Amino acid sequence: MVFPSPQPQVPSPCSSMHELSIANSILEAVCKERERLNGARVTKVGVRIGELAGVDPDALSFGFEVLVKDTELEPLALAIEFVSRRHECSHCGHVFTVVDYRMDCLACGSKETRCISGDELELAYLEVEES
Ligand SMILES: [Zn+2]
Repeated sequence: MVFPSPQPQVPSPCSSMHELSIANSILEAVCKERERLNGARVTKVGVRIGELAGVDPDALSFGFEVLVKDTELEPLALAIEFVSRRHECSHCGHVFTVVDYRMDCLACGSKETRCISGDELELAYLEVEES
């Protein structure tokens, strides 16, 4: 069997280190929350990642799995919500999703728009098992 384009996506060690440290921060937050909840079992953690945050969701999931494995946190699921880049028009207030780097207002054509979302990297929610 011949593959038409033999260009496998090999993640660079630098970028996966980045995702690994983010996964680590997420777990730290989970541990803090567990303490606050007197050791309640956290079953799922949701994070919000903007497309501008420069985080590879696959690498993050992978790093997260590696860190959780064989710890008392296991099993812990990670849910990633990907947030696209949105701009708000300073002229008419229209909010739109930026596609292909087109940042002019879609309603009035003004070039004065500002980024209001897309660079998030935050904890969205935790699901805790009722005891
Ligand atoms: Zn506008």
